[in-house]
Amino acid sequence: MRLLLVEDDERLAEGLVAALTAAGFVVDRAADGRAAWFKGDTEPYAAVILDLGLPGMDGLSILRKWRANDQRFPVLILTARGDWHERVEGIDAGADDYLPKPFRMEELLARLRALVRRAAGQASAVIVNGPVVLDTRRMAVSVEGVPVHLSPQEYRLVSYLMQHAGRVVSQLELTEQLYAQDFERDSNAVEVLVGRVRRKLGINLIQTRRGFGYLVEPERGDAEPRPT
Ligand code: CA
Repeated sequence: MRLLLVEDDERLAEGLVAALTAAGFVVDRAADGRAAWFKGDTEPYAAVILDLGLPGMDGLSILRKWRANDQRFPVLILTARGDWHERVEGIDAGADDYLPKPFRMEELLARLRALVRRAAGQASAVIVNGPVVLDTRRMAVSVEGVPVHLSPQEYRLVSYLMQHAGRVVSQLELTEQLYAQDFERDSNAVEVLVGRVRRKLGINLIQTRRGFGYLVEPERGDAEPRPT
C-alpha cells in the first residue's frame, strides 16, 4: 500500500517514515503544502497522513481541494492536542480520522490500517480466502495454518490483491502500490514478484488475466455477496 505522508517537522517525519515502512507501507513524503497537494492530486495513494500546519498551503485547504477534485483516498489528519476546532474543521473538510499530537506510533498504525481496510471494503484486520489467512496487524500470511515467510514486498503484493479480491488489478497499479515514487519502474519486476509469491504460497491464489493484470477470486461461501 502506498501512502503519502505530509509533515514539515523533519524529525517527526523521519520517525514516521521509518515506522510506516517497517509496518509494510510504501511511503512518499511531502514537507510543503503545494508539493503535497500536487502529489495527492496526481498519484494513486491508498491513504494520506496530513499535518495541518504546513508551509506553502495549509492542510485544510489541501484537503478541501482534493475533495473538490473528487480525490477519495482516506485521509488521517494530525492535529494539535486539545484543539477541537481544528478537528471539527478537518472532518468537515473531508478527513476520515484524526490523531492529536503527540501520539503513540502504535495508535497511528492501528488507525491507518483501519482506514485502509474500510476504504477497501474490509471490516476485519484478518482476511481469509480459502486456505489463506492474511493478518494485517502482524503482517503475516499462512496457508492451511502454516506460516509462509514473505519479504516485505511479497507481503504487500499478497495483501493488496487480497484486500481487492474480485477485482483485476493491473500491473501498473501494482507497481504504483508496491514501489516508492523514485523506484526505477520495470514492468518485469511485478511479474517476477508474482512468480516468487506463487512458489512460496504453493497454491493457486493469484490468477493471471493476460493483458489485464492479476486477480484473487473472492472467497467462496457465505462471505460471497449474493447475486441480486
Ligand atoms: Ca507542521
